[in-house]
Amino acid sequence: MKKSALRKYAKLIAKVGGNVQKDQYVELNIGVEQELLANYIVEECYKLGAKQVNVRWDSDLVTKTQYKKQSFKSLSTMLPHRIAMQQFLVDQNPVMIYVESSDPDALKGVNQAKIAKTRQALYPILKPFRDQRENKYQWTIVGAASPAWAKKVFPDLPKGKAVEALWNAILKTSRCDENQDPIKAWEEHNKELAKRTAYLNSLNLESLHYTSKNGTDFKVGLLPNVNWLAGGEETLGSNIYFNPNIPSEECFTSPEKGKAEGIVYSTKPLSYQGELIENFSIRFENGKAVEVHAEKGEELLRHMINMDENSGYLGEVALVPFDSPINNTGILFFNTLYDENAACHLALGRGFTNCVKDYDKYSEEEMHKMGINDSLIHVDFMIGSKDLNIVGHTRDGKDVLIFKDGNWAF
Ligand code: ZN
Repeated sequence: MKKSALRKYAKLIAKVGGNVQKDQYVELNIGVEQELLANYIVEECYKLGAKQVNVRWDSDLVTKTQYKKQSFKSLSTMLPHRIAMQQFLVDQNPVMIYVESSDPDALKGVNQAKIAKTRQALYPILKPFRDQRENKYQWTIVGAASPAWAKKVFPDLPKGKAVEALWNAILKTSRCDENQDPIKAWEEHNKELAKRTAYLNSLNLESLHYTSKNGTDFKVGLLPNVNWLAGGEETLGSNIYFNPNIPSEECFTSPEKGKAEGIVYSTKPLSYQGELIENFSIRFENGKAVEVHAEKGEELLRHMINMDENSGYLGEVALVPFDSPINNTGILFFNTLYDENAACHLALGRGFTNCVKDYDKYSEEEMHKMGINDSLIHVDFMIGSKDLNIVGHTRDGKDVLIFKDGNWAF
């Protein structure tokens, strides 16, 4: 990728994604193969006045070795310096920047139960830290092309060409290609998304009913005091506007825990814990996933919904038109950041407390009691198809067509 294109992308990440402010700390998580991009992001953060940017290098190879060679006991022990790090995150609310470039199949061959058990064991240690800083800091997730990921997306291209093709797709869907001013493009995009959410919020929906020829027939309940959100968000307390996902095309909300009935069929593969789950269905009863089937990765899917007592309940409902810019690229990214923004999706696990109206007036616990789910996982899976219809039922008893043949009906 051209240096000037990477530089432009780095600026978008620091300015629009994280919106780094003067004297803020920044934590940058990025793959070891992305040295040049990392350097540009660090530079752009300092240009914006960052106090200190710390880089944490990720490596699929090392992660895999760690899971294989360490005992469960060792994996689930938090050493003092890692606890201190969690306390630093709570005290300073640094901007978190995550650059994803992992191979979607990176952890294939690792004992999935060991990974799941490790996450379960670490959760109670990490949760109090997480709860203390929830909604208070800026964060952004973006992508970067690595050879392993690119070969998964473009298996027929030679490595160099595959990486270039994936980069082009990333920059295009991030509104950051040669032809556009990404900062301006994102301002406009956020305005458009805000119009959609304003309309959805005005409907005062009680439930959504999904039907599709693939067999999906599913109903989910929505809470009265919970908003639809999209695009940029503001931090709690400091009111700094940032974009948690680049790209982002979805309008999403947190559904009512316990209110989901029927069956949904996946329309894209899901990369979970470094392994793929493909062609699957999930059946819900009283809000909970009670039956799953998958052509590939069924065991892993079962691990996922049984991660903890709430991981079988939904945390997110998101609407994305079939005609979205990402879906129109025709590329299957095998990465949730992109694929979730190409199709309507649901997420199992943790809900979004910042969807609650006046969420600053409630404690995390109060919002969980209201019906916002809490879990150690939050996993998006795609159910949007080209013939998906969604009918919304409003609280004053009307039926409103929300999606017709895969796209917005309004
Ligand atoms: Zn989503």
